[in-house]
Amino acid sequence: MDGQPSHIDQIKQNNIGTVYRLIDQYGPISRIELSKKAQLAPASITKIVRELVDAHLVMETEFLDLGFRGRPATGLRLASESWHFLCVSISLGNLMLGLRDLSGKLIVEDVLPLPANNDKSFLDRIVDEIDSFFSRYQSCLERLTAISITINAIVDPTKGLIYSSPYYQVQELPISEYLHRRTGLPVFLQHEITAWTIAESLYGAAKNCQNIIQIVIDENIGAGVIIAGQTLHSDNRSVMEIGHIQAEPNGELCQCGNLGCLETFANISHILSRTKQLLTTAPDSLLNYESLTIESLCQAANKSDILAMDIIRDIGVKIGRIIAIMVNLFNPEKILIGSPLNACQQILYPIINECIKQQSLPVYSKQVTLVATEFNNSGTLSAVASVKKALYDGSLLINLMKG
Ligand SMILES: [Zn+2]
Repeated sequence: MDGQPSHIDQIKQNNIGTVYRLIDQYGPISRIELSKKAQLAPASITKIVRELVDAHLVMETEFLDLGFRGRPATGLRLASESWHFLCVSISLGNLMLGLRDLSGKLIVEDVLPLPANNDKSFLDRIVDEIDSFFSRYQSCLERLTAISITINAIVDPTKGLIYSSPYYQVQELPISEYLHRRTGLPVFLQHEITAWTIAESLYGAAKNCQNIIQIVIDENIGAGVIIAGQTLHSDNRSVMEIGHIQAEPNGELCQCGNLGCLETFANISHILSRTKQLLTTAPDSLLNYESLTIESLCQAANKSDILAMDIIRDIGVKIGRIIAIMVNLFNPEKILIGSPLNACQQILYPIINECIKQQSLPVYSKQVTLVATEFNNSGTLSAVASVKKALYDGSLLINLMKG
């Protein structure tokens, strides 16, 4: 986006963002209620609302005001339907493209293969797929507002650079600048886990929490941390690499060069291959009678299968130790777990909670709650976070109101 706003412009931008957020969270809402919640004078609310209505971002609607003898009143709600944005989610072997309206509602989503090796460059392949996506869905396309990219790679969201990727041949790729030049749209880039954590904090399991840690355990292991409402590492580096903290001093060699990283122990592929090995010594396990997946492992643990429970407990102890360290470092209110292992949370969570209780400072640990993320990381949902954030801080709204 263009330049830095002046101090006055920055205040105006923040106020517009706050009003928009409150209408999103509480709409339909009256101007009087909005003025109280935003702590802004009624005259300022009237002015901001008029600008948002004129720009077709907010609309008036009749609603039943229960506080006023149940009479119909005029309230405000967002007008999101005629604004779209493109979500681009890049993961191992896949490119997901999703078209959403400004509320985040999905209009259409495609999952396309994106193999690591190909004659064409990574960027050319992404651009070609975006072009054909738009021509496929031209008929349902409303006014485009932004492009939001999430990827599991080392990124610089401020500069819009992908430094490197564990799967694709990219090096310091200025993807945001390139797509901005091509489309004229603001382009957001964020690490997938950081974006997911921001989504949970804005409209998910950690809504209204200022201090959270989110631990992701799937094919990748990582963490997002928000302290005093600010996302750590969101601006110039990617993510908390807790997957590369040593969990077993004599463990397996990790791709990063370290021995026994958490990722070599607790990512889904490693969990399944260890289970497969251990099954040879457990003829009574339920898992001998069905195909081994992370879902069947969790189900077996829920049915008190000894081998499955031992494996889940062992993961709980290793992860719990690292979470306990993070509790001492960050003093969070909430810890979110984003993982298919949430299917057996009644076994996993007490172990992690026990580690937190035993291994972190009591004054910190007693106020922490451990909960599952509200969303799973499927599709392009995490890409919504950057757009919501830019709407709520007002920056994207100012851009849209300029027309
Ligand atoms: Zn490692």
